[in-house]
Amino acid sequence: MSYLVFSDLDGTLLDHDSYSFAAARPALQLLAQRHIPVIPVSSKTRAEIVPLRTALDLHAPFIVENGAAVLLPVLDLSAAEQATLPRLGDYCVKILAPQLSYWQPILEAMDRLFPGCLWPMSQLSIDRLMQFTGLDRPSAQRAQQREYSDPCLWLGDQAQLNELSQHCLALAISVVRGGRFIHFLKDTNKGNAVLWLQAFLQQRDPATALQSIALGDGANDSAMLEIADLAVQVRSASHQFPQLARESVYRTEQTGPAGWNEAIWYLLQTD
Ligand SMILES: [Mg+2]
Repeated sequence: MSYLVFSDLDGTLLDHDSYSFAAARPALQLLAQRHIPVIPVSSKTRAEIVPLRTALDLHAPFIVENGAAVLLPVLDLSAAEQATLPRLGDYCVKILAPQLSYWQPILEAMDRLFPGCLWPMSQLSIDRLMQFTGLDRPSAQRAQQREYSDPCLWLGDQAQLNELSQHCLALAISVVRGGRFIHFLKDTNKGNAVLWLQAFLQQRDPATALQSIALGDGANDSAMLEIADLAVQVRSASHQFPQLARESVYRTEQTGPAGWNEAIWYLLQTD
């Protein structure tokens, strides 16, 4: 048996405000020593995750834009595997969601229904995005390099958001909250992307049963936490633990990367 660690980034492996992962370093080192891959599963873009992955010294595949696509390093794939997946720079990509252009007319229609409530990230100025997220300018520019989704600031109230969710449901679109933005998802979520990647990795190594550990803090992590073999909800300083249907979940005492560190030590010491 061997583990795969699937992790949300913002508010989970990265501090919600400072984006630091320093408090998770001991657990990251433990995982590296045990050759357990850490797979980022984030609402962030490919342009944002590539440098973060280098900073975190991670080498495994990663999942972008809330499960919209799985990026696999080309060098890890056989020629036969490379032939089945489109190439994007140093990666092969499994696309699970519509392209960005799909969303523009839908967000325009939602803007007409809820005037002034929705601010798509693609339409924010870099200065406003920096102000709202605390990202530096290059990071904010990378955040705007969206390929499959356009997260929105929500300026309406909860009742309006419930109404928006109902409208979207009729279009088979789900609306989920992340740390700062709301996300519109069509045909996929973090859970579906995790299942696809776990199955892909399992068929390459049928003799070793792969067990998933998933860690997240937000409602947009719930789909992956529900389907993981072991689920961790990382405590947030700004919101309650989102509701899960499953009962077996480790809820951290500490917040953000300190909670991430706590959970990995707990799970690996008791396995
Ligand atoms: Mg998060």
